[in-house]
Amino acid sequence: MKSRAMVLNGIEKASFDLCVIGGGATGAGCALDAQLRGLRTILVEAGDFACATSSSSTKLIHGGVRYLEQAISERDLGQFHVVKRALRERKIMLENAPFLANRLELVVPCFSRREVYYFRIGMKLYDWISGRNLLCQSRHLSREESLRRMPMLKSGRLVGTIVYADGQFDDGRYNIALLQTFTKSGGKPLNYARVIGFEKNGTGHLVQARVHNGLSGQYLNIRARAFINATGPFADGIRDLAKPGVRQRLRLSKGSHILLPMDAGTCSDALLVPKTDDGRVIFAIPWLGRLLVGTTDEEVTLQDEMVVKEEEAEYLLKQLNRYLDRPLNKNKVVSGFAGMRPLVASGNSRRTKELIRDHEVEVDSSSGLISVLGGKWTTYRAMAEDAIDTVMQFLAMPAVPCITSNHRLTGSEGWSPGFWAELVRDYRISKETARHLSHKFGTAAKEVLDLTKDNPRLKAPIVESSASVLAEVVYGVREEMATSIEDILARRTGLQFFSWEQARAAAPAVGAIMARELGWSPGQQKDAVEEYVNKINRLMRIIGL
Ligand SMILES: Cc1cc2nc3c(=O)[nH]c(=O)nc-3n(C[C@H](O)[C@H](O)[C@H](O)COP(=O)(O)OP(=O)(O)OC[C@H]3O[C@@H](n4cnc5c(N)ncnc54)[C@H](O)[C@@H]3O)c2cc1C
Repeated sequence: MKSRAMVLNGIEKASFDLCVIGGGATGAGCALDAQLRGLRTILVEAGDFACATSSSSTKLIHGGVRYLEQAISERDLGQFHVVKRALRERKIMLENAPFLANRLELVVPCFSRREVYYFRIGMKLYDWISGRNLLCQSRHLSREESLRRMPMLKSGRLVGTIVYADGQFDDGRYNIALLQTFTKSGGKPLNYARVIGFEKNGTGHLVQARVHNGLSGQYLNIRARAFINATGPFADGIRDLAKPGVRQRLRLSKGSHILLPMDAGTCSDALLVPKTDDGRVIFAIPWLGRLLVGTTDEEVTLQDEMVVKEEEAEYLLKQLNRYLDRPLNKNKVVSGFAGMRPLVASGNSRRTKELIRDHEVEVDSSSGLISVLGGKWTTYRAMAEDAIDTVMQFLAMPAVPCITSNHRLTGSEGWSPGFWAELVRDYRISKETARHLSHKFGTAAKEVLDLTKDNPRLKAPIVESSASVLAEVVYGVREEMATSIEDILARRTGLQFFSWEQARAAAPAVGAIMARELGWSPGQQKDAVEEYVNKINRLMRIIGL
């Protein structure tokens, strides 16, 4: 990515075809698609890229077995098509960034013959809908096979399990890879740039966005022929800026996750808890060396803070422990995170857990604002395709076909699962660091490690016993627009998800490198470290650690 200064330079003099507001999955997907179709595109993000919902997902690339169940029980053809399209997108997401996404087998425990038949038929239907995008056939495992494969399962009444496959991915890094690819195609992404208002022309159409630069405190104007509102849970706010008093469309649902050490009694497969006390599903998924457990589902408003509360952690553990031989304890929790699902409301009656995860592209005919509402990570590309088709129509441009279904993201070129061995050989680093870098950056890991040629000290771990190295901090600042300690530890290296304690311990070293790179004064460096450490301490207190 270019530096912020380079992107800022000349923005006000430029005129863009498209300004995308929001730098999560939806915005990044729209920006890349537009730029690849030849539209001069800028993306502005109020915080850091992927700082909201897009780094807080359950990390599944899925059609959604629960949505399929709803489609059948409610004879809802629309819901059925949502699942089918997501299954097609699942394959595309896996293929376009193989270093960030992989196939995952999920095990569904059954405690009666009836459950075996029910889930077997359901998963066969899921296979059938996947068609040629199937990842692997679902199958039934006997009680003995199930316990061999997942020894931590409660054996008591277990009759057997059903195994099926979906995808899983590193959401924060996938978001960054989308923006890296966007930049390589000539696009301009800018973080810490919040849209605070619009200017309209004589016919009432948006022609300019007023943007607040969160780092310098200055204001700038961005001129564009079209504006996409891809602000996820915040989309009603932008709709209201474009057309004051407009009817709100979103319902928000909070989902919390906790992470536990893998030795807490797990294996390489994921567990699907098919029915919680309140009739939902919960996943326990091996993810980047941890067991990720989630999620809750509670209707919230924008004023609610996205932190994991003690009772939410306890709820998740209670639901999971009913299926485990040895119960997991809250003291084992190493970190957690929460996000807001942006769900498009069709009426007032349904509870948020029943609202479909479909998307809608809305064009406000008076202002011309194009809002992309709802959806899920798995369908970000299809949402972007619909949105950019709409932009081209809106701009009365000849239709240019979308090419993102077959456009590999930066880092994928020449990558294979054994790529990490090249890094060990060429840069003399540990296998753990090589695997970590290979899965975070793909082949761009070489660019990260090239930084260590002049400065071998950058090969040192960010914090003792971590696979992350200091070179990632320098790379994050220079190439990925990271400007705070949290940008690095949460969304560039992922250490904050791996362990709050390790992330807190890493803050001084990360702060020192960032101070050098960004020219912070000693006082600014001290404040940045303190602020980060206090934030982590607070998260730990709220969850009861
Ligand atoms: C708990 C949970 C679990 C989930 N699990 C999965 C899953 O396993 N698989 C799956 O496919 N999907 C999942 N999802 C859904 C998926 O994460 C979301 O649909 C997706 O991330 C939404 O992306 P977005 O870009 O629309 O929103 P966001 O990621 O929230 O991005 C919107 C961005 O807009 C920015 N913004 C807001 N206001 C402004 C402004 N004025 N100016 C500039 N920028 C602004 C925000 O800072 C934010 O970064 C999950 C969601 C949640 C909450």
